[in-house]
Amino acid sequence: MTRVLLLGGTGDALAIARGLPAAHVYSLAGLGRVPADLACSVRVGGFGGIDGLVRYLRAEAITLVVDATHPYAAQMSRHAHAACAIARVPLWAVRRPAWQPQPSDDWREAADWQAITARIEPFRRPLFTLGREPLAHLDEIPPSQYWTVRCLEAHPGNERATIVDARGPFDLAGERALFDDARIDVVISKNSGGRATEAKLAVARERRLPVVMLARPVLPGAGRIFDDAASALDTLRHWLESNSET
Ligand code: NAP
Repeated sequence: MTRVLLLGGTGDALAIARGLPAAHVYSLAGLGRVPADLACSVRVGGFGGIDGLVRYLRAEAITLVVDATHPYAAQMSRHAHAACAIARVPLWAVRRPAWQPQPSDDWREAADWQAITARIEPFRRPLFTLGREPLAHLDEIPPSQYWTVRCLEAHPGNERATIVDARGPFDLAGERALFDDARIDVVISKNSGGRATEAKLAVARERRLPVVMLARPVLPGAGRIFDDAASALDTLRHWLESNSET
């Protein structure tokens, strides 16, 4: 019997999960919404490191792992790679290609939080689209700056920061309005790739604003690597068929 463990937490993973029959498992860390309308089973929460994942793969008789986590969820990808090697389970991965700058873009790479704060020092109205990390630094906002932080968390902010609790996809009109309202003069972003959150880059381009891009973590290899959910799902369907899955 074949049994797929799909590691998710992204739109790509959810698209694959929607095509998975009941015998298979979609796994989430538990930070976001848990879909209730899938044919496959859904499990939520960490496995307990590499050892925990090895135990899970064996206990649940998993025969293929598909890593469709976010490109910055490097720990989960590394754990999946190590655990699959130990348990001798094949590993596939969806690795969304990074966004590429266009000739007129002013992108400045930053390796970590310290580098980000140095890069934005000359600016007054940064828009952070990095997730929760800036919330831990709200007490460090320099007097010359006012921050807008967009993340998946309701947070009151403070006198120097507004927190926008919003989930993508984001379109051009909405991003233009946000940039206008918050008077954004620099954007801080992960290089997530994909369509859902790239409109902010187009608005920065239109307005000739710099983008500080947090460097992508180095991810481990996989037996098969797909650029997008559609190609992963297509190959997965063929694999399930050829392994007598219905
Ligand atoms: P991470 O640093 O790579 O993982 C931290 C720990 O969370 C892992 O060691 C694992 O715990 C658990 N975990 C992560 N993904 C899991 C999954 N799909 N199923 C079960 N456990 C999981 O990940 P992160 O950056 O905190 O992101 C957490 C989740 O949010 C990921 O699933 C990712 O796809 C999603 N996400 C992340 C980002 C981002 O920017 N990082 C953006 C959008 C969505 P154990 O060691 O206990 O197994």
